[in-house]
Amino acid sequence: MKIVMKFGGASIADGDKIRRVATIVRKFCKDGHKLVVITSAMASVTDSLQEVARKASKGDKKAVHEFIEAVSVKHRRAAEGAIMDEKILGRTLVNISSRCDELKNILLGIAHIGELTPRSRDFVVGYGERLSAPILEGAIEDLGMKSKALTGGEAGIVTDDRFGDASPLMSVTTHQVRQTLEPMLEEGTVPVISGFIASTQDGVQTTLGRGGSDFSASIIGAGIKADEVWVWKDVDGLMTANPKIVKSAKMIDEISFAEAMELAHFGAEVIHPKALECASKYQLPFRVKSLKDPDSAGTMIESKVKIKSGDVVKAITNIGDVSLITVSGASMVGTPRLAAKVLQILTDEDIDVLMISQSSSEESITLAIPKAMGRKSQNALELSLLGSKQVREVHIEDGLSIVAVVGAGMKGTPGVAARVFQTMAKNSVNIRAIAQGSSELNISFIIKKEDAKKAVEALHDDFKLGE
Ligand code: ASP
Ligand code: MG
Repeated sequence: MKIVMKFGGASIADGDKIRRVATIVRKFCKDGHKLVVITSAMASVTDSLQEVARKASKGDKKAVHEFIEAVSVKHRRAAEGAIMDEKILGRTLVNISSRCDELKNILLGIAHIGELTPRSRDFVVGYGERLSAPILEGAIEDLGMKSKALTGGEAGIVTDDRFGDASPLMSVTTHQVRQTLEPMLEEGTVPVISGFIASTQDGVQTTLGRGGSDFSASIIGAGIKADEVWVWKDVDGLMTANPKIVKSAKMIDEISFAEAMELAHFGAEVIHPKALECASKYQLPFRVKSLKDPDSAGTMIESKVKIKSGDVVKAITNIGDVSLITVSGASMVGTPRLAAKVLQILTDEDIDVLMISQSSSEESITLAIPKAMGRKSQNALELSLLGSKQVREVHIEDGLSIVAVVGAGMKGTPGVAARVFQTMAKNSVNIRAIAQGSSELNISFIIKKEDAKKAVEALHDDFKLGE
């Protein structure tokens, strides 16, 4: 099989872990598979790159020097832990120091000018992946295989120039990716591609948005027409609920893309939704594999997953901390434009709206927003709407949580909502707002944060997901 394997920041967090990744790569190569590896930056590196870029733009050169020292030590140590062969290690260390020098010069340049453009920010934050890929390449070669590190752009991923959140131009990309990678696969080389970064048609580096290396894996998978894309995790696979909340949570064997996207949207931060969307579009079977148990099948995500009878609900998920914003005013009746306006205001502020509900009397619109963005949303809405006569009040309430019940089997099965809300009533959980997508893939509702654990446990129990 042709398999694209993606390893996230946590799975390459130090030298030992990078070696473990290389061992997994060797195992599946020996089994006769052709592999392309996609890697993230080492854990926390992207965050610190963002931070140092910000400080540099304020002219803080001291922060730049300290950062470069720390980041180069971190990557050197990782290389020393992962690579035994002296020649390979030496070559990797030279590579790390030249990339760190480049990065230092760029950051000092930013500090000099005191300006950080979206374009230069993308160039800086992509260094995490530029630094990690050569170490993984070295670790794979250290185990006796041929490997080559490539940036996303070198691999052939071309995007538009929306820096920070670029989108791939898929027809050029698939063509180029195939041309670059197929010959390498033919001669038995394992390409190690820096996820998250790509480049414009003019060769300027872009990024695919935070968490974007999953997306890189799907893009590359589409390019080489992979048989499967595997995302490796420290967890067993996708779970019926967060195992930290529900002890009896079980691994899900099979799930559809649509269901997995609902889970991703409602807080199960396992796979980036864009990666799922892309894999679904190109009909790439997607697997979540466990680093702790590489032989287990993990969770298979596919377009056509059969719904077993009685299998109504797949998983219960929740978003821990949300704010509820209610925009109300007597004269909102029959003003569809207002709903559009409210959403536009929030979109302009880059605010992620998790749920919307509007009563049929149309007296108010209620929106759930991640708590961290609650005040910002309220301010933006007040500034734009309060003068408008239509709106009387923008009210905000914190300390809430969203629970989402997800499963394709709910579609057309009457009584699921009734059962959900009976279970809540039995457990004295008060419901503040409800939404169901017309796809009927999920029912989501808002409750008090302190009720969330009880609610998720009770639903998991009631729908017998742990059995
Ligand atoms: N390193 C990038 C980030 O932290 C991309 C990724 O990890 O997927 O957002
Ligand atoms: Mg990541």
